[in-house]
Amino acid sequence: MQVEIVAIGTELLLGQIVDTNSTWIAEQLALHGHDCLYQSRVGDNLDRMVGVLRHALTRADVVITCGGLGPTQDDITREAVARVMDVPLINEPRAEEMVREMFRSRGREMSENNLRQAEVPQGAAIIEQRLGSAPGLICPVVDRVIYCLPGVPHEMREMMERSVLVDLGLRAGVTATIKSRTLRTFGIAESRIAEMVAPRVDALENDPSGATIAFLASGIEGVKVRLTVKAPDSARANEILDREEIALREILGSSVFGLDGETMEHAVGEVLRASGLTLGLAESFTGGLISSRIVAVPGASEWFTGAVVAYNSKVKFQLLAVPEGPVVTRECAIAMALGARRALGSDVAIATTGVAGPTSQEGLPPGTCFVGIALSDTEVAAISLQLTGDRQRVRELATIAALGNLRERLLAR
Ligand code: ATP
Ligand code: MG
Repeated sequence: MQVEIVAIGTELLLGQIVDTNSTWIAEQLALHGHDCLYQSRVGDNLDRMVGVLRHALTRADVVITCGGLGPTQDDITREAVARVMDVPLINEPRAEEMVREMFRSRGREMSENNLRQAEVPQGAAIIEQRLGSAPGLICPVVDRVIYCLPGVPHEMREMMERSVLVDLGLRAGVTATIKSRTLRTFGIAESRIAEMVAPRVDALENDPSGATIAFLASGIEGVKVRLTVKAPDSARANEILDREEIALREILGSSVFGLDGETMEHAVGEVLRASGLTLGLAESFTGGLISSRIVAVPGASEWFTGAVVAYNSKVKFQLLAVPEGPVVTRECAIAMALGARRALGSDVAIATTGVAGPTSQEGLPPGTCFVGIALSDTEVAAISLQLTGDRQRVRELATIAALGNLRERLLAR
């Protein structure tokens, strides 16, 4: 089955809302083994909507629209589909009853406008509305079909899951599932990762599993390696993904810090928890950025003691017992980390000190920074970084570098 998505609404074209509906629908289609080759967005204009739908039907078996099913004058998806089907809009008593019941059950007054939602193209079936007021539509067009869903995301998703995906599966007679899994890596450049994984990519080309590997740079957060498989069912897909994940982990080693949505701070937490250690921080120019990422991890209280934002040099000297002198140095970073261990009573600590910019400090250019790591009283190290970008970017780069380095050192212990 070839399915095309048409998102309807002028707000989408003006950039006022992001078309998250299409993204979600596309993901569901892939998971259920349907191909989606085109997606488009069109405003609330009858002629253009009719044009887009007709065009979509020339190249897809199925079109899914979202939006424009509401009761107001600019909600004209019903009209457009009726035109494409070449039928009139008729009042559908069952749809009218649904709309009336929805208002009754909420004790709300219904305006006459809402009865527009009971008008459906002749020959269309309705998808019962459970969460909002607009019923969805299943509209046959010769040997093809247009499904019309509401624009409100949770209403759209509910109808898609309950009705459209089930109906699509029956029509297609297929049960293939497409699944993917993303390995998140840190510390190796994308080109080097591609080189390392190339033999595996080649091997998969002739593999009956049909698994594929893709690389996605994800800004400063490392490189993602995504595995995708198409299999008859979910269990088989998972089996292949498990097998390929093991193969990739063997190649990429400890640079793989997580899967899918797992973040570096999550990975750091896992390592600390597994070794029963707690972490404290001393942040100068990152100003709490590391700490705010850490506390976003559920359960961080088990392994995170706290942070000292030692921005002013005096605070470094007084609170962290850093010897007086220049503060953007290797020695200072280490002294800060040791000071944080003592002040916060943590087993390990990391510290940042540097020049976020835009002006130089202590004769050092913006982007100069040091990360101090203290795993114990004696196991100390400092890494020196020369980062580029504006103030915010330099702080973010230092944050991920500090977390990534801490994880590596803990694993190497
Ligand atoms: P309503 O009954 O609320 O008028 P509708 O089916 O007419 O529903 P729209 O008016 O097109 O839907 O959209 C309603 C709201 O749903 C929008 O204001 C927006 O917040 C959200 N929405 C619509 N389309 C999308 C989309 N493609 N992606 C994400 N959100 C959307
Ligand atoms: Mg609307």
